[in-house]
Amino acid sequence: MALLEIRDVVKKFGDFTAVNHVSLSIEAGEFFTLLGPSGCGKTTLLRMLAGFEKPDHGQIILDGQDMAHVPPEKRPVHTVFQNYALFPHMTVAQNIAFPLKMEQRPEAEIKAMVQEALEDVRLQQFATRFPHELSGGQRQRVAIARALVSRPRLLLLDEPLSALDAKLREQMQIELITLQKEVGVTFVYVTHDQGEALALSHRIAVMNKGKVEQLDVPETIYSYPKNRFVADFIGQCNLLDATVTEIGAERMKIEIAGVGIAEAQKVEGIEIGTKGALSLRPEKIKLGVTLPADDADEVHFKGQVHDCLYLGDVTIYIIELENGTLVETMLPNSDPGKAKFFDDNDLVELAWRFDAGHFL
Ligand code: ATP
Repeated sequence: MALLEIRDVVKKFGDFTAVNHVSLSIEAGEFFTLLGPSGCGKTTLLRMLAGFEKPDHGQIILDGQDMAHVPPEKRPVHTVFQNYALFPHMTVAQNIAFPLKMEQRPEAEIKAMVQEALEDVRLQQFATRFPHELSGGQRQRVAIARALVSRPRLLLLDEPLSALDAKLREQMQIELITLQKEVGVTFVYVTHDQGEALALSHRIAVMNKGKVEQLDVPETIYSYPKNRFVADFIGQCNLLDATVTEIGAERMKIEIAGVGIAEAQKVEGIEIGTKGALSLRPEKIKLGVTLPADDADEVHFKGQVHDCLYLGDVTIYIIELENGTLVETMLPNSDPGKAKFFDDNDLVELAWRFDAGHFL
């Protein structure tokens, strides 16, 4: 049985449904992320796991036990908040010891557990400092140590890195992955940052308007978004309007009006004439002045460079197709002698494999 089961949970605030019939289960030891735009209901779902909110419908089962009548302080669940919520008048060690003191554990045990928690987050030398004497990243590590000190079954993290600058955030992401592996506690992480979700998680539930749109491993969410919302929300994605014209055993032909016929993997339940969009990630598209046409699995189209965005490691080329659609492509700047391969208005050829995209 899964560690956590969320069964058909609904939460309303007046007439507004913040969480709309969500069901999912999380395995022990997982780093699980709830990802979605502001207002999609992810924090509300997290607060129900913590016991700060009660579901209007459905069940939350943790370790086989229904949490309906278990108050927050009795749940084997701790939360790390975005704003750290440390006690300013307590030292780092006292902050970490606080939940253990509340549980009235023996002093010697508290001391040993605090020491271990300090080691978990590599803050041994900071035990006697006060929160105002720490950097933002260090404060967040104290908050994590305090939440982990009694080894909860579930650690809930609500946008814990969003107050940090980009460089520190990346460093903390690596620390979080390492820490989660070391302590083995199940993490449920809330973020609206898709890059963070892809980098950290074993599995991601993408939420929109109170519902889960797609739940899968990062690679599948990124490469095979289930619908336009997920494709658009996760990373850069070209969506080319297309109509199905032929269906084979494994592949189908799709017409991109004014551009030509492309191929895509067959999608079950789709018929000839179905209108949809080919979702295509920029890095899956080949770009050249001319490209070798020796691969039967590839389709080729003509285009013209509309814009170039030099980003250092890569350059983004926005290409205008013959029907006026703009397509984002990218090339790594791996050639030391060259900053850019193309300029505005250059005529180019694009190519992609039939399985590079995904018909939605
Ligand atoms: P954010 O990233 O902005 O925190 P979120 O996805 O976490 O967004 P929630 O905080 O879960 O979203 O809120 C979902 C919706 O429910 C929002 O429209 C919010 O305004 C509403 N909501 C949340 N808490 C309450 C409340 N106590 N009373 C009324 N409405 C609420």
